[in-house]
Amino acid sequence: MDKAQNNESQKEIDEIDHLLNSLFPITRSLTGDGNRETLRILQEIAPLIVSEYPCGSVVYDWVIPPEWRVRDAYIKNVSGERIIDFKKSNLHVVGYSTPVDVQLDFASLRPHLHTIEAEEDVIPYRTSYYKRDWGFCVTRLQYEELEKSEGVLSVKIDSDLDNQGSMTVAELRVPGETEEEYLVSTYLCHPSMANDNLSGLLVTAFLARDILRVGRPKKTWRFVFVPETIGAVAYLHKNEIEMMKLAGGLVITTCGGPGPMGYKETFLGNHTMDRAIRLAFKEALIDPLRYPFVPDGSDERQYSSPGFRIPVATITKDKYYEYPEYHTSSDNLDFVSGSEIAKSLSLYRRVLEILDSNQIFRSTQPFCEPQLGKRGLYPNVGGGINQVGSRPIPDVDTLMWILFLADGTHDLISIADKSGLEFTEIDFVARRLRGAGLLDRCDPPSTL
Ligand code: ZN
Repeated sequence: MDKAQNNESQKEIDEIDHLLNSLFPITRSLTGDGNRETLRILQEIAPLIVSEYPCGSVVYDWVIPPEWRVRDAYIKNVSGERIIDFKKSNLHVVGYSTPVDVQLDFASLRPHLHTIEAEEDVIPYRTSYYKRDWGFCVTRLQYEELEKSEGVLSVKIDSDLDNQGSMTVAELRVPGETEEEYLVSTYLCHPSMANDNLSGLLVTAFLARDILRVGRPKKTWRFVFVPETIGAVAYLHKNEIEMMKLAGGLVITTCGGPGPMGYKETFLGNHTMDRAIRLAFKEALIDPLRYPFVPDGSDERQYSSPGFRIPVATITKDKYYEYPEYHTSSDNLDFVSGSEIAKSLSLYRRVLEILDSNQIFRSTQPFCEPQLGKRGLYPNVGGGINQVGSRPIPDVDTLMWILFLADGTHDLISIADKSGLEFTEIDFVARRLRGAGLLDRCDPPSTL
C-alpha cells in the first residue's frame, strides 16, 4: 500500500471511530426515537430513505408491536441512591419493559432481575418484545448490593407502549445497468453494543456510499436497515413481488471484533454469492472460519424462507453466539474498533465489486479456437509464448482460459476459480474480447 492509500485508509478508520462514538450511546429497540436518530446519523454517510410502518399492522403471521419509549429507569435504595441507573447504561432496562413505579422488597424484585453469575461487572442484554413484562439487567455486584439493601427499594421505569406509533426502516435502492439485483441488509434494533450491531450498520452504510460513488453500477443494489426479524418480515411483506426476484443477498452483522473472520454460507452453499465471498477471501489470503447454513442466525431466516428463497450469506469478525462479550455490556468500544471494522469492510467491498462485475459470456466462435492474431490479440511472431527465459505476453493465458470457458455456463468468478488467475484481470480481458466481437454476454436483459 502506498502512502496516499495509507492516508486514505487511516481517514476511513478515523471516520468509523468517530461514528462509533456517536452511535454507541443511543437507545435503540424494535421501534422508537433512538432508531430514528441512528438513521439520521447514517444518512450522513449515504442518503437512506426512511419510512414509518404503523404499529398494529399485520405482516404475514406477525403484528408490528407498539412503539416503545423509555425516558428513565432506576432502582433506588432507602437513602434515595440510584443503585441501578438507566442513564448510566441503557442495557439496564429489559427492552420493551412496561411502565412501573413501585416500592418492593428484594424478594419481590428478584424475579424481575437478570444477571450473569460468572461475571461480576457485566450487564446482560435482554428483551421482552412480545410478552408484556418489565425487568432490569444488572451486574452481579449490583445484584449483591440490591440483595444486601435494608428496607424497600423504589423501582421505576418511565416508559410507554404507544399503539399509535410506528416502526422505522430505511432503504436505498441503486438501479444498475441490469435488473439482476442484490440485497445488503442489516439490523438497527440493538442498544449500546458495538459488534452487535454498530459494526453491521456502519459497514452497510459505507457499502451503500461505495455503490453510489460508482455512479451507475452494473447490477442493481438494495440496502436495507430494519429492526431484526419483525423489520425484515414487514419489509418483505411490503415489497413482496420485488423481493421474490432478488438474485442473492448479504446480512451484515457482528463484523467488528478483534477475532478471526468467518463466513456463513447461503442455504445453497455454492451460490454466486458463496463463490464471490470465497474468491474475495482467497484474494485477501484469509482462511475464514466456515459456518455451513443452519436456519438460525439473523434475517436470512426471513429472506431465505420458502416464499422468497433469497440465498443470503454473512461475513463476520467475532460472529454472534461465538464471543464471550456477545449480548452484554462488554460488547463495547474497548472490544470493537474502526480498524477491525475496516478489515471486514474491505472484504465486503471486494465481494460487491466481484458480484457487480461478474458476467457469463458465450463465445461467438465456439468451433475451435478463434484466430487471435488477425484481431491484434496475439503476438505475430510465433514460438516465443511462455518459453523459458522469455517474458510471456501478459494476458495470453487469460485470453485462452476465457475463450475456453466461454460456453454460456461459466461466469467470471468460475473462470478465476478454475484458472487461478486474478478476477480483475479476467474481467478486463473479457471486456476486451467482447469489444473484439469474440464474446457475447448471457446476462439478464438490460434495463437501459
Ligand atoms: Zn443480537
